[in-house]
Amino acid sequence: MPRRRFFVPQKLEQNGIAVLTPDQAHHLRIVLRLRAGEEVELFDGTGLSYSGIIQSRRAEIRIGPLREVALPEAPITALALAAALIKPDRFEWILQKGTELGVERFLPLETAFSTVRIPQARLGARMDRWQRIVREACKQSRRVTIPEVHFPMPLAALLTAPEYAAHVRFMLYEKASERLTAGLKPGNPALLCVGPEGGWDATEVHAAEDAGYRIVGMGTRVLRAETAALAALAIFQFLLEPPPMRDGPP
Ligand code: SAH
Repeated sequence: MPRRRFFVPQKLEQNGIAVLTPDQAHHLRIVLRLRAGEEVELFDGTGLSYSGIIQSRRAEIRIGPLREVALPEAPITALALAAALIKPDRFEWILQKGTELGVERFLPLETAFSTVRIPQARLGARMDRWQRIVREACKQSRRVTIPEVHFPMPLAALLTAPEYAAHVRFMLYEKASERLTAGLKPGNPALLCVGPEGGWDATEVHAAEDAGYRIVGMGTRVLRAETAALAALAIFQFLLEPPPMRDGPP
């Protein structure tokens, strides 16, 4: 049976003891009905995972001594997803499913036809919510690295950002004649850009092309933004990820 996993917002160490947050302690005791002496798994987002024994039954739950566990998550091609802001529930769906599909960095984009802008006053709360969503999705898919979620940025800023110059960069465009799979190689970091419900403005497509992006399509149908993002990620995963380890946990 897969072990219960918890994210702990503190650096974990071999032989150390971790204290769960009150929310997690409640979840562990009341919802999962786990007891002292049972083993659980913890991860701190740095790429390592630890197992430890529940040591207390009261409100404060301590877990330890911590033992590093080898996880089957193989290093994959660094994958960034730049997605135009769309309606909140659909954008959150992209974050959740994108995390399951191996995105390491999410870059929310403001584009010419994005109808959604997050007011400055609400940005902090929105970023917290997005972080929570990707963390939860990590638990679900046994990821040990938590993807980064960046502050929203204009497309123009992304196109000139030097940190992505070495990525193979793709802009998804329903009218493109080149296919998504062209130029993909395992090991190359990749960046994928998906537009809003209203699509890309033609000037944005030209600007991306000038900046070195490959403008690529996925067939003849026009997909919703979130479908396009997820379909592209599934294709990437299929092409770039190694097969699961044979002796890994179920
Ligand atoms: N408003 C446009 C479609 C926008 S779809 C129209 O109605 O014509 C939203 C986004 O999903 C697009 O900007 C693009 O990035 C992506 N997308 C949708 N279908 C796609 C396809 N067949 N190939 C590649 N990208 C696609």
